[in-house]
This record gives sequence, structure tokens and C-alpha cells, in this order.
Amino acid sequence: MKRFIPVAAPTLNGNEKNYVQDCLDSSWISSCGKYIDLFEEKFGQFCKTEHAITCCNGTVALHLALKALGVGPGDEVIVPTLTFVATANAVTYCGATPVFVDSDPLTWNMDPSLIESLITYRTKGIIAVHLYGHPADMDPILEIARTHSLFVIEDAAEAHGAEYKGRRIGSIGDIATFSFYGNKIITTGEGGMVVTNDNALAQKIRILKGQGLDPERRYWFPQIGYNYRMTNIAASIGLAQLENVDWHISRRRDIAGIYKNLLKNVPEITMQLEMPWANCVYWMTSIVLNHNIALSRDEIINKLTKEGIETRPFFYPMHTLPMYTSMVRKYNLNIAEQVSSHGINLPTYANLNSKDIEYICDRLIKSLSKNNHTHY
Ligand SMILES: *Cc1c(COP(=O)(O)O)cnc(C)c1O
Repeated sequence: MKRFIPVAAPTLNGNEKNYVQDCLDSSWISSCGKYIDLFEEKFGQFCKTEHAITCCNGTVALHLALKALGVGPGDEVIVPTLTFVATANAVTYCGATPVFVDSDPLTWNMDPSLIESLITYRTKGIIAVHLYGHPADMDPILEIARTHSLFVIEDAAEAHGAEYKGRRIGSIGDIATFSFYGNKIITTGEGGMVVTNDNALAQKIRILKGQGLDPERRYWFPQIGYNYRMTNIAASIGLAQLENVDWHISRRRDIAGIYKNLLKNVPEITMQLEMPWANCVYWMTSIVLNHNIALSRDEIINKLTKEGIETRPFFYPMHTLPMYTSMVRKYNLNIAEQVSSHGINLPTYANLNSKDIEYICDRLIKSLSKNNHTHY
């Protein structure tokens, strides 16, 4: 049988099945039920935040956060250009404009030193993304936000449990958002969460996700809201995943450690650097190829595919996507373009074993050698 190693796969090895069965047996399958309450309570404890509010995916979690913070037409929100498209789209959903920042060359996260020059009288806030599980450098971002009275949202879709200077990701900005899509650190199939320590924001988010319903008056809708609710079934899977979250994270850190060890002497490759102040949760173990190699990034991806190894190219920078190319920009975004065009995400998931990783690294290194063509 031909070997196939996917780039990501969920691991459902805890109480997932029991809890889903319980939902079915009790007929609590819609968006009320004990698993919603339990998942929110435990996820808030996990993030060290007062409030945790479930919703149906990580994209709408961002939309809810921006709406609760009052973002609307004419506003600008500063976002990294190297991120998943949802970060920028959620700003656009509000009628506002995403303003793109270039990457830091070592962590590939938003470079805080470039933010201040992008602030205008229209700027309302900053979305910091913790790319591939590595926290953004939050202190300078918070400092700029304080100086200019801006909000900070953490897009933590890829970084459940990561830490910045000993602080849990999710508890640092005004609001943080998470995704529980199937390939994330923990999953509910599709799902999202908004966390905050601010009571007023939490109340707004709960109202917005439930059609704008007045909490004091049944069937009275004083504003336009959304149906962004999560089901009790999804929350039951999330609770089971959360019970094992430390294991999920330590597996990912172990896997990244094995990759780093096997690839440390390969001069053609740079890995995402874990800063001394960071605890990265390695949503993806990621490499960037140096410029002086014989093959292109896509050729290497294709060679690995033929060997049964699924990988992913990095996200395209947002400013290169058709709907965002025409936007006026003050600066070029060279680092993000370089990193994006040479980046590969390697398979990273809890059930990946060390034999698989050795095989992946062996084939990757072979694909980099200049006289490899005879092997294929
Ligand atoms: C996955 C992801 C999202 C969107 O989450 P969904 O649950 O897929 O809607 C948002 N931002 C980032 C950075 C992501 O990686």
C-alpha cells in the first residue's frame, strides 16, 4: 500500500464519542445544552479570561469581535499581510478597510516597528495574529495601542495555549478569537470562540451572536444581529478535546522538536524561530527555503506529494489577493512576500510518529540536493 502522510488530521482519542452520544441520547443537539456551558466555562479557565463565548467558526468570531468594538464603514484596522484570509475579510465584512503590515523576518508575525507609521485618524485598532502557533510580539503592539487609543484583537485561531512572556495567549488583547476547524490545535469540526475580560464587550458579543435579541424581552430585536451559534454537539467534541489539550500541545511541541533536530544542519532551510519569550504551540511546523536552491518551492512540494507526503505552501500575503491588490499602500511588504513564496508547512498533528517524521525529513533533504533528479 502506498504511504500517505496528510499535512494535518484531528485526533479524537478522549471523551468525544461519549459526549456526542450523550447529546444524541438526551436529544440536546441544537445550540442550548450543558456542553455549551461547560465548554465556555473550561475554555475561559484555559485562557485565563472572564468570558468565553462559543460561535460557529473562527471567521465569525473575528466578525463578532470587530462589531462589538464598534468597527464600521470608513474605519481602518491594521492587520498583518501574512495571515489566513479570514483575518482581513472580517474587517471588510464590517465595511472597514484592512491596512496591511509586513512581517518580522524571524517569527514571520506582524512587525510591531512598522505599525505606528500606518496609523491615521481613521485607525480603530490592530489585529495581531499568532501565526502558525507562535505568539506575536504583544508588548510593543499594546504600547502603540495605548498611545493611540486603539483596540487590540488577538487572532489566536492557530495558537490555543501558546504563551507570551508567561501570559496565556487570548488574555492579552481586548478580545481574542479562536477557531476549532478540523486542522486546528483542538477541533469541534467547525467552531469558534471569542474570549475577553471585559463584561460590556462580552454582553455585546452574546447579543450579536444570537440575532441581536434583547436579553430582557423575548422576541424583541432592537438591532441587527446574526445567528453565529455553535451546537451542543460541536461543544461536546470541544470539551472532550479541551480535556486533553495539554497532551495535544505537548505532542506538537515534541514533533516540532524532532523536525528541528533532523533539519538543523540543512543549510537550505530556515525554520520559524521560537523567541525566548515565546511558548509556541506549533500549529504547523514550518520551513522557509533559501533562495539559492535548484528547485522552486512548488517543485519541492510536488516531489514530496509523489512520495506520499502532503505539505502546504504558506498563505499568500493578503495584499496580493485580487480584492486587496488595489489598496493604497505606503510601504512595500517585501519580507512577507519572500517568506510566503518560499514557505512550506510540514505535516504536524498529534498522531504523527517519529518514523513518519524521519521519512519526511529524509525525502525533503533528498529533494533539496542538486543532483536528485535521477531519483524520481
Ligand atoms: C483558521 C483561521 C481563521 C478562521 O477560522 P475558521 O474557523 O476556519 O473560520 C482565522 N484566522 C486565522 C489566522 C486562521 O488560521
